[in-house]
Amino acid sequence: METKLLTSKQVKEAGAILKEGGLVGIPTETVYGLAANALDGKAVAKIFEAKGRPQDNPLIVHISDLSELDDLVAYVPPVVYDLADAFWPGPLTIIMDKADIIPDEVSAGLDTVAVRMPSHPVAREIIKAAGVPLAAPSANTSGKPSPTTAAHVMNDMNGKIDAVVDGGSCEVGVESTVITLATRKPKLLRPGRVTPEELEDVLGDELIIDDAVLGKLKDGEKAASPGMKYKHYSPSSDVFVVKGSFEAFKELIGKEATANTAVLVFDGEEKDFDILTLNFGEEDDDLAHAAKLFDALRTCDDKNVEKLYVRCPSDEGVGLAVMNRLLRAAEFKVLEV
Ligand code: AMP
Ligand code: MG
Repeated sequence: METKLLTSKQVKEAGAILKEGGLVGIPTETVYGLAANALDGKAVAKIFEAKGRPQDNPLIVHISDLSELDDLVAYVPPVVYDLADAFWPGPLTIIMDKADIIPDEVSAGLDTVAVRMPSHPVAREIIKAAGVPLAAPSANTSGKPSPTTAAHVMNDMNGKIDAVVDGGSCEVGVESTVITLATRKPKLLRPGRVTPEELEDVLGDELIIDDAVLGKLKDGEKAASPGMKYKHYSPSSDVFVVKGSFEAFKELIGKEATANTAVLVFDGEEKDFDILTLNFGEEDDDLAHAAKLFDALRTCDDKNVEKLYVRCPSDEGVGLAVMNRLLRAAEFKVLEV
């Protein structure tokens, strides 16, 4: 199949492909999504095939207006309106009990459905043009770092999907925050641009943080968010997170570096290395870390980097989301120097 590269002006074409049951890579403020008509199980099944995604990993349904929510869920818990007021449109996904209209392919057989209203203007126009809610996981090959540019999507999906809409680089750069309201107390399953502190401002101190947010699931432990159990965000390179001073980091690289080693370092630190050096933004800028992480991991793959050493960022604020992704990319390899 030929994968068409569409501009952000060609939302009608994208909508038409989706209406007919096709797959389109779409820009959102978090990462690029791989979209299909969420109410068409056959169309949604093609997403799993194109990504090589495990069948038991459910998808997020994207809407463009709050009025679309009622049909998708069994009932709307009242707190959803407070959350929507504060964070929609935006990078928050809310899990609720599903309505019968949601095909099993979307919910992966669970009784719940994840819903989000993206803020990216092109994503919103595409949902409107399609005239249906869109199921969309990240538009990467399963296991690989999520795509934050149309070129990343093309890299993974060329020949496997109908089209990609180029909306430039994603502003946030990590996937949405996911919370579930299908449990007795609201629970954070995946950190993102919307932080636990911001959620607590709306939910009070009710919010529970799932163990899998920063830790590793123990063997046999059941994941509350099926996506959290898989090897994830993983470049072919071996990734190491390095905790400690910059001096100690330089000393480690001096000892360990070969021609195929790269480093991911903060602003101003690049000049100290003569190997491939990737920029993580300013040391105290968690938004920059989020925006740059996946592109850095993908660059390592493009350049056949064998080992990537990463300066350990803060896990405060959006840093919680950055560390959640980085630790998985590193398969929890952390060096203390
Ligand atoms: P992706 O869109 O690729 O970032 O993946 C969506 C994430 O949301 C995965 O981690 C899923 O496991 C999670 N998710 C989606 N729907 C549900 C659900 N009904 N219950 C729990 N987790 C979900
Ligand atoms: Mg994903």
